[in-house]
Amino acid sequence: MSQPLKIPGLNPQKDGSLAMTMEVPNGNLNPGIMTALSEAAAMPGVTVHITTAQKIMFLGLDSKSGKSLMEKMEAAGAVIRKGRNLSHARTCVGRPWCKYGWHDTFALGEYLYKNTAKEMTAPKFKVGIAGCPACCSWANMLDLGFVGVKSGWKVFVGGHGGAIPQTGLEITKITSHEEAAEITMKLARLFTDSVKKKSRMDRIIRKMGGIEELKKELGFS
Ligand code: SF4
Repeated sequence: MSQPLKIPGLNPQKDGSLAMTMEVPNGNLNPGIMTALSEAAAMPGVTVHITTAQKIMFLGLDSKSGKSLMEKMEAAGAVIRKGRNLSHARTCVGRPWCKYGWHDTFALGEYLYKNTAKEMTAPKFKVGIAGCPACCSWANMLDLGFVGVKSGWKVFVGGHGGAIPQTGLEITKITSHEEAAEITMKLARLFTDSVKKKSRMDRIIRKMGGIEELKKELGFS
């Protein structure tokens, strides 16, 4: 029996339905997207779900409702994920709202989204931004994290959750958005070049011989 054609952006789920995922840079939503989301949530059988990666998933679609919803969301300005691009970092609110934040996390998030989000990466390479070491966005538990401190951003790599969680290791401190984008691109490319199917940065670091080898590769020692 011939398989139905795969529609980019609509991903088969275990129960036979399709799911679609929308990017939400910095986790912020505008009125146009909110209106479209409210219409999506009213569709019969559709569940609108906020993921732990600060994205929005539409569950319970079929190919007809999925295509139609994709058109509506894109017309409202949404970016629907259709491939394995880096996408946006998960970001806490930071300055000026959070009293603990050292920096404007949304500004860094926007800069990274503009300059790195389209980079195609192997699964799974996750990036986070936190305005202070409290790391509400788990930036120190992701493959790459930028953590605000008084004098700039500490850069952590190799963190992950899972059955055996791992805290990221600090590799350097930076002061500019440009440096953050440069590290993100370098690391995402190094990761993708090193992965056959699926991995995490922590595993790649171990394969390279440890964090000092990675620092050398990135030019930090
Ligand atoms: S990580 Fe720090 S700056 Fe960000 S929300 Fe948490 S406490 Fe505030």
